[in-house]
Amino acid sequence: MVTITGFETRDVRFPTSLDKTGSDAMNAAGDYSAAYAILKTDGGFEGHGMTFTIGRGNEIVCTAISHLADRIKGRTLDSLVSNWGQTWRHLVNDSQLRWIGPEKGVIHLALGAVVNAIWDLWAKTLNKPVWRIVVDMTPQEIVNLIDFRYITDALTPEEALEILTKAEEGKKERIQEALDSRAVPAYTTSAGWLGYGREKMKSLLQETLSKGYKHFKLKVGGDVAQDRERLGIAREIIGYDKGNVLMVDANQVWSVPEAIEYMKQLADFKPWFIEEPTSPDDVLGHKAIREALKPYGIGVATGEMCQNRVMFKQFLAAGAIDVCQIDACRLGGVNEVIAVLLMAAKFKIPIVPHSGGVGLPEYTQHLSTIDYVCVSGKKSVLEYVDHLHEHFFHPSEIKDGYYVTPTSPGYSVEMKPESMERFGFPGVEGKSWWKSEEARPILEGEKI
Ligand SMILES: [Mg+2]
Repeated sequence: MVTITGFETRDVRFPTSLDKTGSDAMNAAGDYSAAYAILKTDGGFEGHGMTFTIGRGNEIVCTAISHLADRIKGRTLDSLVSNWGQTWRHLVNDSQLRWIGPEKGVIHLALGAVVNAIWDLWAKTLNKPVWRIVVDMTPQEIVNLIDFRYITDALTPEEALEILTKAEEGKKERIQEALDSRAVPAYTTSAGWLGYGREKMKSLLQETLSKGYKHFKLKVGGDVAQDRERLGIAREIIGYDKGNVLMVDANQVWSVPEAIEYMKQLADFKPWFIEEPTSPDDVLGHKAIREALKPYGIGVATGEMCQNRVMFKQFLAAGAIDVCQIDACRLGGVNEVIAVLLMAAKFKIPIVPHSGGVGLPEYTQHLSTIDYVCVSGKKSVLEYVDHLHEHFFHPSEIKDGYYVTPTSPGYSVEMKPESMERFGFPGVEGKSWWKSEEARPILEGEKI
């Protein structure tokens, strides 16, 4: 019997804006950050969860985490996980906190950290990685993880059960593939940041190609002539006829007609999809873009800033997207993600999780494995960015173009204490990088 006795939050920020890692048309200079939750227990276990931000405002998410974590203080782990649907509802149902959402924005980012910390704690007590807990469940047990409020018009518990029961066929073989690290092919964004120079981009493309990657994503949306040049370079390296796939990502910079016109000018580079062409809330806009670009063979993807399962329901039911990009902590943790995996399976849309951020590949490797083994039964691809993994005890890893399936107990985002201290914000004098001279250009520079 494990009881949650308390919690801590940590504001951890990595100064990635210095070298433009993560830069795109909307996010010019991000400092990859974690709003971090640690659940303390009486049993020697800790539950670690985090949510991803890109710097300023991370402390606001930490404050929201404290409010939510307080709702499970004093509860036993058993009482939380024995009826997960109810626990999830309890966490989103504080009648006062709900006002600052509901189920969206900062409070929902914080929910992701807390829910995922419970999963991490549970997995550690069971001595299993998170993906394995779900894969070992019966279809009915998986259905019980979900709060179906607001989505039963698109997916009933009975339909969810049917999808999961159908996926039982071949599951054993897919588990074996997971154990052999052949379940989740990776794609790379490492070369594609908008702020990287041409030579850095070329060498990163060549390097990732030689490592076995077949899918490459580039940021676009700054300037059409420059994007044509960058995509031209990328196609020169990866070719058109070698089975390599190119994707592009605009990070919401365009209005709908602009997105359509801009993408027509990139059509000859044959991208599989345009990611986040416009506002993440614009279901009808995505649908219009999808229809306009269909004759050019370009699909539409979105999801990394999709607020919750209700928004995903609309994107899927309206036929507004070709690719569903769930995020491990923008959604309210594992439970809400599984609700979206099931809706995507019903509407036959592939899951390609968003993973460009610190800790995200550590999380999403579990989610893609769950999707392949027990929901869709179909192999997809999962983003991998090769930044900041050294700060985690169990970093995600790529081998021969596939994610190495995690085997350590937990949800893989436990960060090393020395990393939390060194990059803690605002940080302790003499210990944190943020108190050093090196940090001054960020702290005192223009906030762009
Ligand atoms: Mg993106």
